[in-house]
Amino acid sequence: MLTRIVALAGLALLLFAGTFAVAQHINIAQAPAVTEPVPPAPQPAEPVPPPETPAPVVIAPPEQPPAPVVTVPAPMPPEKPAMAEPKKDETPAKILFSSEKLPTLGKAMAIGYYPRGCLQGGVPLPVTGPTWQVMRLSRNRMWGHPSLVRFLEKFAPLAAKATGWKGIMIGDMAQPRGGPLPFGHMSHQIGLDVDIWFMPMPDHVLSKEERENTSAINVVADDWKHINPATWTPQHIAFIKVAAEQPEVERVLVNAAIKQELCRVEDKKNDSWMAKVRPWYGHHDHIHVRLECPEGSPNCRKQPPVPGDDGCSAKALDYWFSDKVLHPVIKTPSKPPKALTLADLPPACKSVLDAPAKTGSIDPSAQ
Ligand SMILES: [Zn+2]
Repeated sequence: MLTRIVALAGLALLLFAGTFAVAQHINIAQAPAVTEPVPPAPQPAEPVPPPETPAPVVIAPPEQPPAPVVTVPAPMPPEKPAMAEPKKDETPAKILFSSEKLPTLGKAMAIGYYPRGCLQGGVPLPVTGPTWQVMRLSRNRMWGHPSLVRFLEKFAPLAAKATGWKGIMIGDMAQPRGGPLPFGHMSHQIGLDVDIWFMPMPDHVLSKEERENTSAINVVADDWKHINPATWTPQHIAFIKVAAEQPEVERVLVNAAIKQELCRVEDKKNDSWMAKVRPWYGHHDHIHVRLECPEGSPNCRKQPPVPGDDGCSAKALDYWFSDKVLHPVIKTPSKPPKALTLADLPPACKSVLDAPAKTGSIDPSAQ
């Protein structure tokens, strides 16, 4: 019995020792298996670590990105100015300039090009003069470069004398600081353009209401190919001629039917003023007088000079009586044309907008 017990104990001992040895062997076998692949650097990062120690390390980084939630607000601030800036830049320049009610301080300067510029140091034309009256006062477009105001003060009595009219009726000039206009014109932006109506000034001072409601007279016939004999008079020729004869006048724009009539009547006289009178769209109830760039306006861009001929050739006129001009096919644009922004104007026009108003300026429309 004892022998059996001893034998059993021995067996148990052997089994225990064997198991231990196997276990150890397994451990040893596993350990190298771990250590061997470990050397490649990625090891701790991927297979082995996940369950244990590296886990926190691995988890930590993934946890951190969420922390960027804190960094999310960071991109936001730049976004705000980024959105505000383009918005400011995209504001149509006509909105900015038409909201300026007074001219700038500083030396008078026409800046840029007639359809793309602005006016510094603008001055108003008195709305009622001995031989002129300004119309549509609500538009606040009785401003110009001083050379334009001087021209009108000189031209009005000359035109009155040449036509026998009491005086002239003046339409749009420029806004106090020039710039694009919200309606009515592409040009008139640098204080050197003025519209003057094809009608004599009445013999009384017009009220504000009359200046708003009176309309200019159309002197072109309904077919747009001839003048209208019911409204056209020889005085209109004298009126246009006196304007074009002034040396500071760069050109005078009229409807093509009017230019054609001038060519017919003034044929063979070969007057140089005829070259300055050019056909243009509209202009059937007013002339548009444009002055050349004045002295002291280095940023005023000159218009290419008118061709030397009188502009009466078929080549010069036929286009204006073609179907595409008289009966244009009106296409609906897919999107409205882009309005001019400050970026489209000379850089100096931003300074003109920012400049302080001329103190002591009067509101001519209040006269
Ligand atoms: Zn005009």
